[in-house]
Amino acid sequence: MIYADNAATTKMSKAAVDAMTFHMNETYGNPSSLYTLGQRSKDVLDEARAAVAKVINAEPGEIIFTSGGSEADNQALLTAAAIGKEKGKMHMISTAFEHHAILHTLAKLEKEGFDVTLLDVGEKGIVTAEQVAEAIRDDTCLVTIMTANNEIGSIQPIREIGAVCREKGVLFHTDAVQAIAHIPVDVVADNIDMLSSSAHKYHGPKGSGFLYVKKGIKISNLIEGGAQERGKRAGTENVPGIAAMAAALTDTYSNMEKNAEVMSSMRDYIIAGLSEIPHSALNGDAERRLPGNINFCFEGIEGESLLLLLDDKGIAASSGSACTSGSLDPSHVLLAIGRVHDVAHGSLRLSIGEDITKDQADYIISSVKEVVEYLRSFSPIWRDLMEGKKEFIL
Ligand SMILES: *Cc1c(COP(=O)(O)O)cnc(C)c1O
Repeated sequence: MIYADNAATTKMSKAAVDAMTFHMNETYGNPSSLYTLGQRSKDVLDEARAAVAKVINAEPGEIIFTSGGSEADNQALLTAAAIGKEKGKMHMISTAFEHHAILHTLAKLEKEGFDVTLLDVGEKGIVTAEQVAEAIRDDTCLVTIMTANNEIGSIQPIREIGAVCREKGVLFHTDAVQAIAHIPVDVVADNIDMLSSSAHKYHGPKGSGFLYVKKGIKISNLIEGGAQERGKRAGTENVPGIAAMAAALTDTYSNMEKNAEVMSSMRDYIIAGLSEIPHSALNGDAERRLPGNINFCFEGIEGESLLLLLDDKGIAASSGSACTSGSLDPSHVLLAIGRVHDVAHGSLRLSIGEDITKDQADYIISSVKEVVEYLRSFSPIWRDLMEGKKEFIL
């Protein structure tokens, strides 16, 4: 099988599995317990916190362990909301193509009286610092813009956006779940106040993540209870998960440049191959793009059928659409970059890993070509397009 859905989740690395099994077997004490076994668990957390902080150039005290990216996103937004409310600032800025952990939380805050501006992301799926500067008002309490998009891989100018926010005194949060350990992120240089990360996107375990919150920002809790995580996230810590996250992050990050080189060259090779398919288009920006992300629209076909047939050929990919949830709505990300419904339905996201070989890339290209041709051979939409009853968009 060729696993090409690394944006959905990744296989755990050996470093992560080793750390996880070791700590499940050996470090079972409660980190809040005073005896040696408990303190050993606390030491594991301290070490993990320091390791995680180092990768993004933060202080260990600025890291809160969470159950993943979604929780970190929720906590960041509710933190900003509470601070905003206190100051009478009830306006937030984001983009139309954020992850649902952001968009749904913003929708909830709107019901509580917040005013949300979603910035247009343009055809390439990139917002500019100028757009952010123009959207900031006197009552803006937060700008939240993802570091890189999970469907189309476009990388946002977060350093410039962060600088604008700093200058105007507005909190800046970034959902860096797709970016951490894949492209460089530095919370100091990038002017970031809050950042979300998830272990399972860089070969760590599912159910582990962290939120970075710059020193001095008053954090709001999602979970009340014990005094874990400096009282900001109650619940006995997931020691094996956290240790495995730190091991995965350290390991993946130490190979980041090498991996990015391999992946981006294979990415561009596959993009070139798939571009030969008539009436197709690459989604997202060709250059400002995550090393492993490939996303195409093919006119006249259904993304879902494409996925099932690719699965038959041993390729695990994603359509980036919401079809799997039973809804017929196409991906909000593809709509945000201006793809019309018909076209957005025929999408394919391949997110390759660093272990991809040239043979696998060739197999992906030939399989996608074959399946697209096959699906078009009996697609009524394709027939209408070919007979001139409908106009091609791509
Ligand atoms: C995967 C993902 C999330 C959610 O992370 P979980 O750990 O699965 O909750 C949030 N944002 C982005 C951009 C993601 O890709």
